[in-house]
Amino acid sequence: MCESELVSFVETLGEPAYRGRQVFAALQHRRLTNFDDITDLPQAFRNKLNEVATASTLTVASRFISEDGTRRYLMKTHDSFPVETVFIPEERRDTICFSSQSGCPLQCTFCLTAQLGLLRSLTAAEIVEQIVIALNDAYGVGTKTPRGTNLVGMGAGEPFLNFDELMKALRVMASPEGLHIVPNRVTISTAGIVPRIRDLAAFEDRPHLAISLAAPTDELRNELMPINKKWPLEELLAACRDFERTLKPNERFTFEYVMLDGINDSEEHARQLANLLNRHQLKAKVNLIPHNPAEPLPYYPSTEETVARFRSILESKGIHTYVRRPRGRDIFAACGQLAAREGTTISSLESTSVGA
Ligand code: SF4
Repeated sequence: MCESELVSFVETLGEPAYRGRQVFAALQHRRLTNFDDITDLPQAFRNKLNEVATASTLTVASRFISEDGTRRYLMKTHDSFPVETVFIPEERRDTICFSSQSGCPLQCTFCLTAQLGLLRSLTAAEIVEQIVIALNDAYGVGTKTPRGTNLVGMGAGEPFLNFDELMKALRVMASPEGLHIVPNRVTISTAGIVPRIRDLAAFEDRPHLAISLAAPTDELRNELMPINKKWPLEELLAACRDFERTLKPNERFTFEYVMLDGINDSEEHARQLANLLNRHQLKAKVNLIPHNPAEPLPYYPSTEETVARFRSILESKGIHTYVRRPRGRDIFAACGQLAAREGTTISSLESTSVGA
């Protein structure tokens, strides 16, 4: 709930409005996860809250720690659907990659999450709680995050197929009385849900946008990302162009391009990609993401030399290009690897149950 909803809620319990603000600050700013720990509330009110509400609904089934410090959490909703969240420690500011859905209805062939299908979309509360749980695990309940937090909506699910709950979660997290993670600290990645790209363009306070491209032609993109059959590249890039026209000076807009060995990483693909973006007069930079191995998917990461060559072709045609460093590959926490894995595949890695 956002602060105003909590205020209305406590008023229905016969409590004054300021109690709602107190509860919001306790759950969001101090990141307490149960009402009994809000000791500055009268005991009778805490008892009443316990009777009619729950402060947290996700439980952590397992967490996995990578040799690079990345942490992957496999959480469960109250109705037992898997939710995956990744905490990536970084020098200047940590990043949390959250999920917007349990599973995903899109069928990107290079992504393991696709094999789960859509289990269900997450509520705004479940989206926010992933961040609370990851921060509490990394820093302890109630502590200030030492380096601040960036969020990326690149976990399981297509965020723009859960648009309203996503935007509500972002509003809740932006509150200065709560987590205070403003949209400028958030990047949302979409596979290309064109109407929602246009909707986002109308928002004043909005996250940064990333578009997952994966291919420079409809023929190849139809294969790798079947959503392309619904919104082909011409339509997608026209929406991107319109979106780019609304960008404010401090906003980032990027294209993500997963690099699959022998599939979409040739010099011809690089030239096609550069021509496509230039023809649509797009200035957005391109992030190249070497594919993360995800058995049983039949793909392999492009070699370093291929990635470097691809990058230099894009750069030579005026496209700003970066190569993303994979994090947490060993614990299946990297892009495209999330599939609610537990048990045998990762049994040799550190696994600590911290939830109920
Ligand atoms: S890449 Fe993203 S949109 Fe595509 S199937 Fe995976 S989670 Fe869904």
